[in-house]
Amino acid sequence: MKTARLLFATCLALLALPSGAWSNHSFVTYRAFDTMPEVAQAAPVPAEPLEAFLKDQEAAIATLLAGQEQWARSHMPQYAPRAASLDFKADPARSDAERRKAFLTALRISPLSRFALYLQPDPRETPDPARLLPHDAVNFLPEQPNDTHRFVGIAPQQPVAPLAVLASASDEPDYGLDINLWQDSPSEWGKTYGFGTIPFGNPALYYATQAPFHMGFYHQDWLIYKAAPFIQRTYPLMRIQQYTSLASLAFRTGHAYWGWRFSGLALHYIQDLTQPYHSDLAPGDSTLRLITANVLAMAGFPGRRDDLVVLLSNRHLALEKFQNEAMYANARAGKDTSLEQALRRRDLDAAYPAWSELYARDTVSLEAHAISGRTVQTLVANVPPALVSDPKFDFGVKEADIQLMAEIERFGPGKRAELETLLAELLGRLGAHSRNTVRGVLKAAGR
Ligand SMILES: [Zn+2]
Repeated sequence: MKTARLLFATCLALLALPSGAWSNHSFVTYRAFDTMPEVAQAAPVPAEPLEAFLKDQEAAIATLLAGQEQWARSHMPQYAPRAASLDFKADPARSDAERRKAFLTALRISPLSRFALYLQPDPRETPDPARLLPHDAVNFLPEQPNDTHRFVGIAPQQPVAPLAVLASASDEPDYGLDINLWQDSPSEWGKTYGFGTIPFGNPALYYATQAPFHMGFYHQDWLIYKAAPFIQRTYPLMRIQQYTSLASLAFRTGHAYWGWRFSGLALHYIQDLTQPYHSDLAPGDSTLRLITANVLAMAGFPGRRDDLVVLLSNRHLALEKFQNEAMYANARAGKDTSLEQALRRRDLDAAYPAWSELYARDTVSLEAHAISGRTVQTLVANVPPALVSDPKFDFGVKEADIQLMAEIERFGPGKRAELETLLAELLGRLGAHSRNTVRGVLKAAGR
């Protein structure tokens, strides 16, 4: 137990980490589904405001959300139950705005969430500037420098392609939905949601409070759980269960637009867990190494632990930046490389167990956790040491100025190809898990 307590502080420090995973999920989702007939060739569906779906299906949604709560209580050991006062109850007399607020409250997501009618076009296309929506109409978090997001407005009843709805929504959980939901968050609703105080996350980052909803450390060493039980207070399984079951309900009741949109929201969390840094607390570092670093820190020599934290953060960010730079450049050039081909590899899909509500934990994150060591080795061998092996350098602070692809090309021949081989493997899995999830939803919906 003493060792366990010593480990505690290290885990806290490690978790002061970035919480983004794949930078713009719409890029990968477009490619993972653009050759899957059930999605790519599905007929256009009429767009519908959230309020219209909620009003039409109010009673069915009330029953579904009560069932979701029971599911979470019986399947998630560390789950913080939702108070009965937050239940969604049918009330046909209330206003659209009140019903919408009651729905977001029962899901325990931010009431500031926009849920706008919008699409994020395929990055291969250049949208008409006249149709672009301001960032804040879709995403209430601050806009970032060099942002690659483009939002296009759509009108109620306008026919839209299911692929575009699915891909757009797969990025949406990063637009503030999971921000400030904790008791100690600077928000009114955090006090009533019942999730307790934030288990981990770096308060200096504006998006830090979403981390425990987008990460899942399900396969760590027992000693780590003993030392830092709070790392189990994560919620991607809850979000996946909420959105997949809402998607099935919407499909079954003639609201296909929301069927695809809720499916996309669920995909986000599945895709986050394919990122080894979201499924392993400290990729490449053994429990012994974590303990040693922490014992030294406790003895007044924090250098090794602090270095470990910076390197972990730098590698996490380097992997994401490499993926984002490569995929955006390929899309703009209209080019298919090994990455796009990996995302479309449908021959992988059937190799996995059938979809279930625990698929994210038992299949997706297990696999990502298992490849985390190799991910680190590949990063360290092929990205210039100044960027990923120097604890004096902070990638997060310098990110906007780093031309990562150019740095890797300069570092040596074959380096970029090695990284692409690893990334293709990760993206191949991401594509398969995304499609298997959509298949699970369509099956549950009887389609
Ligand atoms: Zn995320």
